[in-house]
Amino acid sequence: MADKNPYDVLGVSKDASQAEIKKAYRKLSKKYHPDLNDSPEAETKFKEVSDAYEILGDENKRKQYDQFGTTGGPGGGFGGFGGSQGGYQQYSGGFEDIFDTFFGGGSGGFGGFGGQQRRDPNAPRQGDDLQYTMDLSFEEAIFGTEETISYKREQDCHYCHGSGAKPGTSPKTCSQCGGRGVVNQTRNTPLGRMTTQTTCPNCHGSGQEIEHECEHCHGKGREVVDHRVKVKVPAGVEEGQSIRLSEQGNAGKNKGPAGDLYVVFRVKKSDIFDRKGAEIYFTLPINFAQAALGDEVEVPTVHGKVSMKIPAGTQTGESFRLRGKGAPRLNGSSNGDQRVTVKVMTPKKMNDGQRQALRDFADATGDNVTEEEQNFFDKLRKAFKD
Ligand SMILES: [Zn+2]
Ligand SMILES: [Zn+2]
Repeated sequence: MADKNPYDVLGVSKDASQAEIKKAYRKLSKKYHPDLNDSPEAETKFKEVSDAYEILGDENKRKQYDQFGTTGGPGGGFGGFGGSQGGYQQYSGGFEDIFDTFFGGGSGGFGGFGGQQRRDPNAPRQGDDLQYTMDLSFEEAIFGTEETISYKREQDCHYCHGSGAKPGTSPKTCSQCGGRGVVNQTRNTPLGRMTTQTTCPNCHGSGQEIEHECEHCHGKGREVVDHRVKVKVPAGVEEGQSIRLSEQGNAGKNKGPAGDLYVVFRVKKSDIFDRKGAEIYFTLPINFAQAALGDEVEVPTVHGKVSMKIPAGTQTGESFRLRGKGAPRLNGSSNGDQRVTVKVMTPKKMNDGQRQALRDFADATGDNVTEEEQNFFDKLRKAFKD
C-alpha cells in the first residue's frame, strides 16, 4: 500500500490542491475500473489508484504521508485500514464519487459492487448452484408427485468447521503477504523499476496460512456430503422443465448463503399417448363397419376410460376432442383436452363369410360413385390430359 508513491500514481504534484487530486482520481478510476476496462492490469491499477486516493483524498492521511512517507499500513491505526485483508471497504468515500460519475449519482444502486466484493476472498460468498435430473413416469409428470432425492453437496468441513486447520489450532496470518492476500513483484526494466501486484501464491489470496492441516479435509475446509431433500413435483410438468429449490445447492463460504438446486425433469414416454403441453394425443383404430355405420366405443385417457361416439360416415384421419381429459395446465386450474384421431383399419385376413359379405356390399354399391368421388375423378382425368 505504501510501496507506491501516491502522488506518482495519481500523476499530481506534491502541492496539488484537493480539487486537482479528486479530478485526477476520477479520471484514472474511471479509466481502470474493472467493469469498464478489460485489460489484465486494470484491476491492479484500479486498486493502486484507489489506494493513492485513500491517502491523498484525506487531509490527515496526506499530512501523515508527507511527514513519514507512510500512513502506517495495515493495522497502523487508521480506522479504515484496520488490518482488513484486501477489503474494498478501504475505499469508502472514493466509491461514491466514482458512482456519482458513472451513474449520475443518487441512484442508490450499489449493484455494481457485487463484482468487487466477490474478489475479496474473505467476503461472504454464495455457494454454487447444483443441478439434479429427476426421472418421472408419464403419469407422474401429469399428476405431480412427491419424492425425497439424495445427492452430493459441498459444505464446511464438520471437523474443523471450515477453517481447514486441525481442531485446537487456527490459521495464521500468511507469512508471505502479511495477510493482504496480494504481493508486489518488482522488476527492473529499461523504463525503470516496475511493480505489479498479484494474488499471493502462498495463501491464494485468503491472507491466511494453515500450519497444521485438518486431517478430515486436508486443509480445504470443505467436505462433500450426502444431502436429502423432499421435492414436490407440480402437476403438469414436461420434459426439460425444471424447478428451483432455494439454498439446496452447495453451502456458502464465509457465512454466505447456500446456492440453489435446479431439479430438471426427464419424462418417460407413454406407449399409447403423445403429449404436447396440456394436450394429449391418442390414435384409435376402428374397423370399416364402425366408420361407415357409426358406433360408441371406450377410449383410454389418463383419467380412465371414457365413452366416445363415432358418427356414421367417419373418415380415417378425422379427429375428435375429449374436453378436459388432457394434462393439467401448469399455471391454471383447468385441464387440456385429449385429441382422438381415428384410423380406419383395412382387414388383412378375412374368413369366407366376411369376404362374401364384402362382395355383396360391392355388388350393392355397383358403379355408383358419390358426387365427391366424381369430382375427384374429373380432376384426375384433367390432370393427365394437360
Ligand atoms: Zn476440516
Ligand atoms: Zn498470503
